[in-house]
Amino acid sequence: MTYLIIALLLCSLTLSVVFLLAWQNFGRQTHALVWSATFLAGAVQYGVNLLSDSLFDDRRVYWVIGSALGALTVSLALAGFRLWSGRWVRADVLALTGFAAVLSVAWFTFGQPHVGMQMFIGPAYGGVLCLLCAQLIFRQQAVSRDVELAAASTLGLFGVSQILAACAALMQGATMDPHWLEIYRQINFVILPAGYLGSGLFTVLILASDLSLQMKSLANTDPMTGILNRRGFESTSGPLIARARRNNQPLSVIICDVDNFKEVNDQHGHSAGDRALLLMAKVLRASLRDGDVFGRIGGEEFALALPHTDITQAEKTARLLRRDLAGTEIGWRPEPFHITASFGVATLREDDHSMDDLLQRADRAMYRSKRDGRNRVSLERALRSAQLTPDFC
Ligand code: GH3
Ligand code: MG
Ligand code: MG
Repeated sequence: MTYLIIALLLCSLTLSVVFLLAWQNFGRQTHALVWSATFLAGAVQYGVNLLSDSLFDDRRVYWVIGSALGALTVSLALAGFRLWSGRWVRADVLALTGFAAVLSVAWFTFGQPHVGMQMFIGPAYGGVLCLLCAQLIFRQQAVSRDVELAAASTLGLFGVSQILAACAALMQGATMDPHWLEIYRQINFVILPAGYLGSGLFTVLILASDLSLQMKSLANTDPMTGILNRRGFESTSGPLIARARRNNQPLSVIICDVDNFKEVNDQHGHSAGDRALLLMAKVLRASLRDGDVFGRIGGEEFALALPHTDITQAEKTARLLRRDLAGTEIGWRPEPFHITASFGVATLREDDHSMDDLLQRADRAMYRSKRDGRNRVSLERALRSAQLTPDFC
């Protein structure tokens, strides 16, 4: 038993340091720091348990202090999960309920001694809080992430096993009953260590998988406009091809490139150019429907992938966008200015292998718009006969 407690003490300390380092290195997120404190409180609890014989003459005092440390550990864990899930931490509610639990333990230890109740309250309180943590994780997982599902299950099982241990303790009644005490011990020392460590490890994994999602999102996002970059656009729009083929639906792509943007920068300055790009992104974004994919695929070049859209509808959209963009004044001092863009439109063909094939054809059409005088919409070559050339609608 002593070895088990030493092992748990060392594991708690290790996890506390792991969360502290995670806090320091992964963007100083408060929940990582709170989880570090959780495992530190857990380590103190195991340390006090280990030294209880030399620290306390009266074992009952140890029991109340141990219960208080246990309540602190689970309260910190729940506070960490609430912060992680973006919710407020009701520190007053946590402190009050924890205090009430410890007070009840003290009452059934000194006031009205009842071994069953004395041993029931701590694990029951811990079990309920673990179940609340599991529920928070389960509700949080927008995209069913394996890691979160595993963490919620482990914490849930950990909570249930604590409640079972609490029930076994309660079955003893007012005085100690060796039969139920043995069952309590078996649950407490066989199942609980795995649940405790499993919960800690899966919580570390949650941090790691959050970080990986964050990196993925950063790698796919254009920092200036906050929309997808070329890589993000291609990876997000790529699956649209298979979906369009599966559902026998059209899929079109629009590319647009700001006209004479170098002159805009030269005349108004680079910051004005940036502002123009931000406004352009806003104008294009306003036209998006659910399921459309939109990104900045070059310096002053944007792309839209439009599912359920044939070439005629895509051309109409591009014409509206061209008109909206040309009509948008870019507020700038000393003088506001306007920008225009040239558009190219292409639609999915049977021989297309990837989004890049579509983008290339839309790009060629866009360059035709440039050659034909800019500020216009052109369709890919095979559909040229249907093209309504120079439009200033
Ligand atoms: P065209 O009509 O043929 O497209 O002419 P253009 O001047 O727009 O094309 P070109 O490719 O010669 O120049 C693009 C310019 O876009 C050059 C570059 O400095 C500018 N640019 C690219 N990215 C940014 C950016 O993030 N901010 C600003 N302000 N300018 C950018
Ligand atoms: Mg340009
Ligand atoms: Mg360009």
